Amino acid sequence: MFSEDTNKHFTDQQPRCEIAKTLVEEGECQWPGEVHLASLLYGSLLCAAHAELLKLRERFKSMLGKVFEMDQWLESVNGEADELRVRRAEHHRNELVEQLRFHRTRMDLMRDELLLDKDGTT
Ligand SMILES: [Zn+2]
Repeated sequence: MFSEDTNKHFTDQQPRCEIAKTLVEEGECQWPGEVHLASLLYGSLLCAAHAELLKLRERFKSMLGKVFEMDQWLESVNGEADELRVRRAEHHRNELVEQLRFHRTRMDLMRDELLLDKDGTT
């Protein structure tokens, strides 16, 4: 009983993952905060899993932006650019879309794992 109390005291002192402050839809996280993501999110303290998830999210967003840019370019050239350039751009675009799909699957898996951990411990 005594050791349980000290253990509880210790976990109360431990700073928690602050994902809910940054991404409300992720909800409260019970994991201890370990990682500072200053570059991405103004010094939020996050658990390792959420830090990884946010990094993926940022990468995902920037790739999505690139695909959007390429779509616009492909639309705007409308047969005016030489064929090789267009084909190369289309190829690159398809590769990016493929990577996006892969990223989304990973993010979904990570989110599932976080939820499982949360439910599994109680
Ligand atoms: Zn977390």
